[in-house]
Amino acid sequence: MFCFQCQETAKNQGCTVKGVCGKPEETANLQDLLIYVLKGISIYGEKAKELDIEDRKAGLFIAEALFSTITNVAWDNDRIIDLIKEALKTREDLKSKFMAAYKEKNGQDFSEQLHDSAVWSSDDGAAFYEKAKGVGVLATENEDVRSLRELLVIGLKGVAAYADHAAILGFEKGEILQFMMEALASTTLDLSVDEMVAMVMKCGEMAVNTMALLDEANTTAYGNPEITEVNIGVQNNPGILISGHDLKDMEELLKQTEGSGVDVYTHGEMLPANYYPAFKKYKHFVGNYGGSWWRQNPEFESFNGPIILTTNCLVPLKKDNTYLDRLFTTGMVSYPGAKHIQNRQDGGAKDFSGVIERAKSCSPPTEIETGKIVGGFAHNQVLALADKVVDAVKSGAIKRFIVMAGCDGRHKSRNYFTEVAQQLPKDAVILTAGCAKYRYNKLDLGDIGGIPRVLDAGQCNDCYSLAVIALKLKEVFELDDINDLPISFDIGWYEQKAVAVLLALLFLGVKGIRLGPTLPAFVSPTVLNVLVENFDIKPIGEVEADIEAMMAGK
Ligand code: SF4
Ligand code: SF4
Repeated sequence: MFCFQCQETAKNQGCTVKGVCGKPEETANLQDLLIYVLKGISIYGEKAKELDIEDRKAGLFIAEALFSTITNVAWDNDRIIDLIKEALKTREDLKSKFMAAYKEKNGQDFSEQLHDSAVWSSDDGAAFYEKAKGVGVLATENEDVRSLRELLVIGLKGVAAYADHAAILGFEKGEILQFMMEALASTTLDLSVDEMVAMVMKCGEMAVNTMALLDEANTTAYGNPEITEVNIGVQNNPGILISGHDLKDMEELLKQTEGSGVDVYTHGEMLPANYYPAFKKYKHFVGNYGGSWWRQNPEFESFNGPIILTTNCLVPLKKDNTYLDRLFTTGMVSYPGAKHIQNRQDGGAKDFSGVIERAKSCSPPTEIETGKIVGGFAHNQVLALADKVVDAVKSGAIKRFIVMAGCDGRHKSRNYFTEVAQQLPKDAVILTAGCAKYRYNKLDLGDIGGIPRVLDAGQCNDCYSLAVIALKLKEVFELDDINDLPISFDIGWYEQKAVAVLLALLFLGVKGIRLGPTLPAFVSPTVLNVLVENFDIKPIGEVEADIEAMMAGK
């Protein structure tokens, strides 16, 4: 195996024996093969597009399958093998459509030689394992070509996940699905460096479009997030803990648990569900339990009740865990031994009755903290406060905004983000989204004239909100360049959604981003030079020096 897609990759070079995340070699290899077949589908997708055929179903399948390869999503090899089989079938269906259209147009069969990913086939699981060994990241020998191809594929995984979340709520865009095919197919071609960089930038553009689409999907379905105090203590009823990003699952769970005597709590990236009007109305939706994803082993133990993982991040269970029999997965998440809740059928809802019954036999959660945290500062809410914010900037009460969005993780070096939050001057406001916020959202950092010093927009996809806020401020202050705003970017990343967000920021023209705790291993020295020259990307440094530089606009 060779995997270097996340921040905690071994020695910041690549996991080669077993993932630091716990991913076994077979799982990593199967994921490589799945991506390889997705490239084959995409080659036919690109060919079909030349004949005006767009296959929405194939596009949606690619989004789901790419999402399944994100860190901490799919742990069940049988499920990945099923996806490979489905990918091969999707490819053959699209091929048939293309072949028929080609013959009709040209009066003869298509005979061009295509890349192996469009040709290789097998229906034998054992052959999958064998083939998988030769189609991974290292199959591209040139370090810089590999870096640009993988930067594209890794960013695309984030785009795919967001596109999948939006599609679940009925929001799709053909151009996003078609771009996924264009991008994947491009990695089978001998492109120039400039062409590959252009494709990476287009991925950033699509990341913006996809986050905008998901924002539209979430707010259309559940209203605009609003300022909310979220309880972090516990009640006396048995509870269900729900994590991940899937708000449709949240909606159905809340409906089905109403009146059951079972409370619902969020964990990790589901915390922002507390900010949506459509969910706040449920009295048995009682708050958030615990911190970010990497704390789930002890927190899932002490929760005592069933846990539902709707998307990433699911951490492998410890051998002596007590919660495998109360762990439920949905959508693209899978784990050997956990119960998987089946997808909706024909417009119906998922059936959470098994989870609710399990909850009734469990003890209430053990309290691990008490109090409240405040969030809900997505674009609509912040723009409602725009006058106040603009006045505070004009009067000098707010000197600078520091965007500390992105991911959290288990590395000690992430204390940097807590220390920055603690040591920033009191006239700086932190804009956040994603689980990076757990590094400082329980600290008492005060407010500036009633504006809290930590404004949490929501999930990592809600970084879109932060971009909308920045663009609005640019307009209000009549600036030509987003980089002339009093905003600095100090981003923590962990996995591939954060890479999509980073590419989105680059596409929007944001320069001088600090990135940590380490720079991505998949960026080669040459590609890093391109990023530094064009975007002034830099690694995080020492807390005090970084704060001084950011406050000085550097
Ligand atoms: S996802 Fe990260 S930790 Fe897991 S195998 Fe890949 S690089 Fe290693
Ligand atoms: S912010 Fe990043 S690490 Fe956290 S749950 Fe979202 S995607 Fe995973």
